[in-house]
Amino acid sequence: MEEEGGMAMKCYICAKLGVDEEAVAICIVCGMGLCLGHAFKEELIVRDIIDWGFGEERIEYPKTLPRFICAECKLAIDQRKKAAKK
Ligand SMILES: [Zn+2]
Ligand SMILES: [Zn+2]
Repeated sequence: MEEEGGMAMKCYICAKLGVDEEAVAICIVCGMGLCLGHAFKEELIVRDIIDWGFGEERIEYPKTLPRFICAECKLAIDQRKKAAKK
């Protein structure tokens, strides 16, 4: 497979504003390219639930899993978090 040279990913939000900004991250939800100013970094807690047969053990690991997300997807996910807390 041959990759197109020089076809660097651009920030989608900047491109819409007519700005030529290279993407440094990609939103994991919608897949749009994001520059440093438009990428939000979230830290996901890494969890395991081990079922021992007589009960579950929940383990949370000290290292978090970083992921990049765009403003629109962040809003969409945040509204769900708020709804779940009710
Ligand atoms: Zn941007
Ligand atoms: Zn997104």
